[in-house]
Amino acid sequence: MRDVVVIGAGLAGAAAALRLADAGRCVTVIEARGRLGGRTYSRAMGNTTDLVEFGGSWICDWHGRMKSHAARFGMALRPTLPVVERRWHDGDVLRRDRPVAADKLEAHLQGLQEVQADSLAMLGGSGRLQTGNPWAVMSFAEYMEAKGLPETVCREFIAWWTISGSGDITRVNVLDALHSASKCGGTMEAMFEELTHTIDGGVGTLVDRMIAASGAEVILGDAVVEVADRGDHATLHLSSGQIVLAGQVVLAVPVNAVGTIRFDPPLRPAQARLAREKHQGRAIKMLLQVQGVHPGVLVTGEAEGLRLMFAERALSDGSTLIIGFGLYDEVTDTSFAAMQRAVTRFFPEATLLAHDWHDWIRDPWSAGTWVSHGLGQGPLFAGPEWAAKGRLHFATSDIAPRESGWFEGAIIAGEAVADTILGINHT
Ligand SMILES: Cc1cc2nc3c(=O)[nH]c(=O)nc-3n(C[C@H](O)[C@H](O)[C@H](O)COP(=O)(O)OP(=O)(O)OC[C@H]3O[C@@H](n4cnc5c(N)ncnc54)[C@H](O)[C@@H]3O)c2cc1C
Repeated sequence: MRDVVVIGAGLAGAAAALRLADAGRCVTVIEARGRLGGRTYSRAMGNTTDLVEFGGSWICDWHGRMKSHAARFGMALRPTLPVVERRWHDGDVLRRDRPVAADKLEAHLQGLQEVQADSLAMLGGSGRLQTGNPWAVMSFAEYMEAKGLPETVCREFIAWWTISGSGDITRVNVLDALHSASKCGGTMEAMFEELTHTIDGGVGTLVDRMIAASGAEVILGDAVVEVADRGDHATLHLSSGQIVLAGQVVLAVPVNAVGTIRFDPPLRPAQARLAREKHQGRAIKMLLQVQGVHPGVLVTGEAEGLRLMFAERALSDGSTLIIGFGLYDEVTDTSFAAMQRAVTRFFPEATLLAHDWHDWIRDPWSAGTWVSHGLGQGPLFAGPEWAAKGRLHFATSDIAPRESGWFEGAIIAGEAVADTILGINHT
C-alpha cells in the first residue's frame, strides 16, 4: 500500500507532494495526461525554439509562494514588459490617442467611473446596485444592461474580463468582474501593472522540478476513474485497470474534471453539484508569432472574437509574441486566415507568421480555464464543502481559500492539505 497518493500533477498536486516529501513522507503522483504541469504548459511554438506559455503565465508581486519556489529551483523571474503603447478598436476605427471618438469620450469616461464606484461600493460591503438589484444574483450582462453603460465601456469591460475572470457574461456573476475592477483602479493599464512577472524557463518547468524534487513515484498517462474509501485505506481504480491502495489521497484535479471520477462514498451534495455544473472559466488564449510589431503594445476591442492582445516580448529570432485573449464561445474560427484578420485589425503593420493555442475547454482533464463563478455557484466553493472527507483531501486552485484561480492559490491549496495530512494545525 502507498503512503500518500496525489491525483493530478498540476501545481497544487506538486506543492502537496513536495511539502509531504520535505516532511519525510512517501508520495505517488498519478496523472491522466502524458505530461506533468496541468494548466501550466510551457512549450515551443511556430518556427522558434522559445518556450511560450499555453496555459498560465503571470504572477503578481504578492505571490510569495511562487517566488520562493522559483528561487528554490533556481528559476529566475522575468518582469512583464510595461505597456509602452495603447490602442483601442472602438468597433469602427483603430485609435491610438484615445479610446473613443471625441464626442463619445465624456460618456465613456463617466461609464468607467461608474463601474469603478460600484466596485468600491461592493468592496465596502454594499450588496446591490442603487436601483435595488442584488449583485449576488446578477449576471455580468444584466449588470451592464441595468446600468445602461455605453457600448464602448461594455467592450472595454469585457476585454478586461477575458484576462481577469472569463466565461459567458450571461452566466457569470457580476461580483467577480466588479472585484477585478476594484483591484485595478479601473484601467487596463493598471491591471497589467499588477501582472508583474512570469517564470523564465517556463512555469511548467517549475512544476517538473517540484515533482522531481519530491522524489515521488509518478504514474503518467493513466487517469483515476474511481476512489473508494474503505475505512482503513483507500482503493483507486485507474483507466488502465491498475488498482492502487493508499493510506491518504489528495485529489488535486480541477473541479471541472472531478466528474470524471466515481466516489464511494459519494461526494458531498455541493461538491457533486459543482462537478456536474462546472465552473464557468471559458477563455481562449491565442499565441501569435508576428513580424513588424514592437513589444509592449496593448490593444483592446474585438477582432474575430479576440478582445485583447498584448505584444508580450521579442522572440529569439527577432519576431514578436502577441498573446490574444477572448471568451471561448465568441472565437468561432481559429484558422490562420481568421487570426491574420484579427492581427491586422489591431496591428495593421504586422504579418502573422504562426499561431497556436490549447483548447482547455475540450480537454477533459481541465474542461475549463481558470476558475470563474457562475450565477448562484458561490456557496459551492465554500471551504467546509471541500474539507477533508475520510481519507480524501481536496486541493486545487479552483477552491483555494486565497488567490483562487491563480498559481499562488494552487500552491496554497496543495500545501494546506499536506499540512492536514501531516497533522500541522494552522489555527
Ligand atoms: C489559458 C490559461 C491562462 C492562465 N493564466 C494564469 C496566469 O497568468 N497566472 C496564474 O496565476 N494563473 C493562470 N491560470 C490559472 C492557473 O494555470 C491554474 O489556476 C493552476 O495552474 C491550477 O493548478 P491546479 O494544480 O489546481 O490544477 P491543474 O493545473 O489543472 O492540475 C490538475 C491535474 O489533474 C490532472 N487530472 C485531472 N483529472 C484527472 C484524473 N481523473 N486522474 C488523474 N489526473 C487527473 C490534470 O491532467 C492536471 O494535470 C491560467 C490558466 C489557463 C488555462
